[in-house]
Amino acid sequence: MTEALEKETFSFQTEVGQLLEIVAGSLYSNREVFLRELVSNASDACDKLRYATLTDAHLAPTQDFAITLEIAAKPKALSISDNGIGMNHADLLETLGTIAKSGTGAFIDALKADEKDNVGLIGQFGVGFYAAFMVASKVDVLTRKAGESEAWLWSSDGKGAFTIEPAERDTSGTTVTLHLKKDAKEFAEEARIRHIIKTYSEHIGFPVKLGDETL
Ligand code: ADP
Ligand code: MG
Repeated sequence: MTEALEKETFSFQTEVGQLLEIVAGSLYSNREVFLRELVSNASDACDKLRYATLTDAHLAPTQDFAITLEIAAKPKALSISDNGIGMNHADLLETLGTIAKSGTGAFIDALKADEKDNVGLIGQFGVGFYAAFMVASKVDVLTRKAGESEAWLWSSDGKGAFTIEPAERDTSGTTVTLHLKKDAKEFAEEARIRHIIKTYSEHIGFPVKLGDETL
């Protein structure tokens, strides 16, 4: 497969676009579940790489598996990093935008029926990543697949399109950066993040770190 060397723009698949419109406009009171979904994806990615290293020891990361949260104060942003399996260009296209998962339509129907109560179920429909757009006006995914040398930056404001361009990353894994909406600045506060992790992500099998602290 040939891969582009410049920034490419893609349209979200129709159902994904519809889903994003509802999710982004949602005034759901428990929108903090976005963090549960992104930490769960980071954990899945570490699990996948750990499994892959059983048959190919070369893929093992240099550091122990971990999920690291970072807060940027100005402009306010929150990032979730893992040193898991990562994604290549084809993975990004398939999983983040152009191919709707089978659960997407069912989830849109559930939201239309009773939006407020159902947004929290987003992970159960296999579309948890898009919960990021409840709190972010722009989402960046910087990722490099284990065993591959190229890194990629996926980026979107959730309004119909996303871009993918070549990027730099020293190690395999993924960093999801949420550029927080004006009304979601609370998610750049350490105490808030600590509380959300304690509430939703206690069962995660890898250390979740916030700065030097393991939550
Ligand atoms: P699900 O986790 O149920 O598959 P999501 O919408 O949460 O659905 O994630 C979609 C897909 O995007 C995942 O299945 C995975 O392939 C990919 N993905 C998301 N986050 C990461 C990550 N941190 N590392 C690697 N792949 C990821
Ligand atoms: Mg998920």
